[in-house]
Amino acid sequence: MKNKLEHFSDLDLPPLLLEVIAELGYTKMTPIQAESIPVLLSGRDLVGQSKTGSGKTAAFSIPILRNINMKTRAVQALILCPTRELCAQVAREVRRLGRRHAGLQVLVGSGGQFIAPQVGALEKGAHIVVGTPGRVLDLIQRKSLILSKTTTLVLDEADRMLDMGFEEDMEQILAALPRKCQSVFFSATFPQSITDLSAKYQQNPVTVTIKDAAGEEAAIEEKFYEAGLGEKTTALIKILEHHAPQSAIVFTNMKAVAREVSDALNNTGISAASLHGDLEQFERDRVMARFRNQSTRILVATDVAARGIDVESLDLVVNFDCPSKPDTYVHRIGRTGRAGKTGLAVSIVTPREKFKLALIGEYTSTKPVISPLPRGKPQAEKSDVITGGRDNTESVIKAARMETISISAGRKDKLRPGDILGALTGESGGLKGDDVGKIEIHDRISYVAVRKDVAQHALKSLIEGKIKGRTFKVMLLR
Ligand code: AMP
Repeated sequence: MKNKLEHFSDLDLPPLLLEVIAELGYTKMTPIQAESIPVLLSGRDLVGQSKTGSGKTAAFSIPILRNINMKTRAVQALILCPTRELCAQVAREVRRLGRRHAGLQVLVGSGGQFIAPQVGALEKGAHIVVGTPGRVLDLIQRKSLILSKTTTLVLDEADRMLDMGFEEDMEQILAALPRKCQSVFFSATFPQSITDLSAKYQQNPVTVTIKDAAGEEAAIEEKFYEAGLGEKTTALIKILEHHAPQSAIVFTNMKAVAREVSDALNNTGISAASLHGDLEQFERDRVMARFRNQSTRILVATDVAARGIDVESLDLVVNFDCPSKPDTYVHRIGRTGRAGKTGLAVSIVTPREKFKLALIGEYTSTKPVISPLPRGKPQAEKSDVITGGRDNTESVIKAARMETISISAGRKDKLRPGDILGALTGESGGLKGDDVGKIEIHDRISYVAVRKDVAQHALKSLIEGKIKGRTFKVMLLR
């Protein structure tokens, strides 16, 4: 690497920002950060190749936060992402990194939600907007989103946005930005359309490509198991029992299959949920919240449904159906082995699908080999961060130890994680700190994970007691 900078402290950043970065536990920069943050701080345009999990969100957010002028309530950075989920994740990371920027307003302007609250929020003023191209364009055309003071534009997962048909919207947005606006394109792949977009709208951009470093390559172990068409579900159960992941995504090629597989897993007592295009947005949100907080261990999803979802510490990805396109394969398995952790990607291959292995091998410059299905005792579970406890190995994969309670209030109601934790562990709640898992606060709803054995008690105490002196609708999600 030509760049000598390794640590965030080597960068010219304000102390408050460095403090937050340290609090988040980021010490060394990831390769993409080391390469792109100095370029972005110098004000140049950038085209970066990187995938989810590389730390690219922080790579573009840190320079944005350094440049933000808190005194003006004008939109100074616009970040476009392909999906609503990705927008939410990016906004979450920006808010985390910006938590010492008192009064920072980060607005999510994504589709699939009412536009009026977004218009209202923009009227009050926002510093950073994270949105999907369609909705952002709509907000621009309504003259609700004003870009005259915007100094940074980010296209996150540019190739996906193009795949999803946002090309025209993106062009119109790019054309609406001030000429001097710095632009940052991040993409996993570089089809001609991105090169064209860059040539048209960027000025002498710096290209940053992170070749799969040796460490990163080893981060995903790939395995291929053969199973007959009618034996795939049994094979999947064996795989899950053997590898006993904390959290895994199982990919299917069709949504009907996603549902069937999820049902089959639940019938054997393995906690699973399916994510597919037929779900309402609130149902998707619930499924994802439950998965992130370990109330559901296995998520069964199609590629479309899984777009943009990001879950930390996913230790296994299973291809229930082998994808036909090698780049889909690479996208799927890229969801494990993130930020330096090793991951495992397992594919079930039917005899008729064996030809796909050659395509995958050619694309990834590897030689996929079929291994015999695992048998024998399941692996012992790694220590569980949330409960600190262990089950008998027999049932490790089956039991999800957490349950999720939803509370009908969120950030907009000024609800904070501490309020929920306080209500649960205070006098009326009586729970111990480690009975409570992840707490997620969304705009109008919050999810809290609690240990299964205390879930009913927690529910009762939240229903009977008050949170911050107020009563909200509280439900146990199943
Ligand atoms: P991303 O590629 O932006 O989705 O980031 C993947 C994950 O890595 C996120 O959970 C970040 O919080 C985390 N992360 C980002 N930068 C660093 C870093 N320098 N050190 C450790 N973790 C990081």
